[in-house]
Amino acid sequence: MKYELYELPYELNALEPYISERTLKLHHNKHNKAYITSLNAEIGDTKYKNLDLDTIVKVADGPVFNYAAQVWNHKFYFEGLKPETHNALKGPLADLIKRNFGSVTFFKNSFIKASLSLFGAGWAWLVLNPEGTMEIILKSNAGNPLRIGLFPLMNCDLWEHAYYLDYQNRKKDYLEAFWKLINWEIIEKRYNEFSKTEASVLNS
Ligand code: MN
Repeated sequence: MKYELYELPYELNALEPYISERTLKLHHNKHNKAYITSLNAEIGDTKYKNLDLDTIVKVADGPVFNYAAQVWNHKFYFEGLKPETHNALKGPLADLIKRNFGSVTFFKNSFIKASLSLFGAGWAWLVLNPEGTMEIILKSNAGNPLRIGLFPLMNCDLWEHAYYLDYQNRKKDYLEAFWKLINWEIIEKRYNEFSKTEASVLNS
């Protein structure tokens, strides 16, 4: 099997009280595992077996795309979270967000407002466009910004399985809880990777 369920970078109860151990167990050990199993089954012996996951997400359609993107999106989401006590948005990333959105509060409100407006299952994303400007976008189902040439910095899972056990229909409470768990260090690291790519293009 090419893709395997990985260990999360924190304990299953580490995101409590905002995301419960029960939710994380179901989300990672059941839903994410099922996406990985289905992706392996769909890839099988097809032309996709020698492609990396980013490429599959960019070029595949149908079930291969759906499972590949869900596997990609979930790894990005789980890596983007961290227990609350270690979190702070500060330094260069905070300055960048202020430059792009006017203030951190406006950015937060915009992200939550956009997330609440998604009809059905999907994902909210903070991305960089090719000019390096930050944008908040929504994608239904397994949608992923790599397909439209955008560089992802952060995502929030808006499928009901991500929050229903803890928050039922109180999606806004889930989004406020999600906000307390964002791993800003990882998001800054992702931003720096984008800057490096841009610099290497400019210098070549
Ligand atoms: Mn999910």
